[in-house]
Amino acid sequence: MTVPATSSTASKPLNIAYIAFGSNLAAPLTQISDAMQSISALGKLTAVSPLYASKAIGPGSQPDYINGVCLLHTALDAYSLLSSLQSIEAQQGRVRTVKNAARTLDLDILLYNDLVQDDPILIIPHPRMHERNFVIMPLCDISPSLEIPELGTIFNIKEKLSLIGLKKLDITLEFSKLAPLSDD
Ligand code: ADP
Ligand code: MG
Repeated sequence: MTVPATSSTASKPLNIAYIAFGSNLAAPLTQISDAMQSISALGKLTAVSPLYASKAIGPGSQPDYINGVCLLHTALDAYSLLSSLQSIEAQQGRVRTVKNAARTLDLDILLYNDLVQDDPILIIPHPRMHERNFVIMPLCDISPSLEIPELGTIFNIKEKLSLIGLKKLDITLEFSKLAPLSDD
């Protein structure tokens, strides 16, 4: 007898997560490259933005950051994704001291589908993303027609931002695990 396929066997659409990354310690390019390899194990990493250098906003004198954003299609729920990203930060030697301290790796969830939520663990959209040129510019590079819940179009947000302190880098990192979505 042939067992008919039921809805429980049908694959659920993957969630769409935009993740910001930044590093200003311990060879930032290597940190970012390693992070992309680890993130690609959480689903399908379908885009990685160009990289930008930005001035640190934290306390004391700190090296410049290298920043960018990536797009991950994942079966993880938002909290599991946050905890997986925090594990990757920890694996790469992230030590939490004071707010905005220099770090080997910061991974923030910017957007998760069209989710809007605010609780003590997870705020989405990321509450400061629209003020950060080092987030908005790379986000615009990979998704120029993105709409951000409650904030409007990426284009309008970009128009209001100063680009002072930001420099687009002419560096291409190879990410062997970038996956086309049609691979299902
Ligand atoms: P920051 O990224 O602001 O420099 P941390 O990386 O140390 O600071 O994160 C501080 C806390 O922010 C985390 O413990 C996490 O629970 C919380 N948080 C809230 N919303 C988000 C989000 N969208 N992405 C990442 N962390 C978040
Ligand atoms: Mg963070």
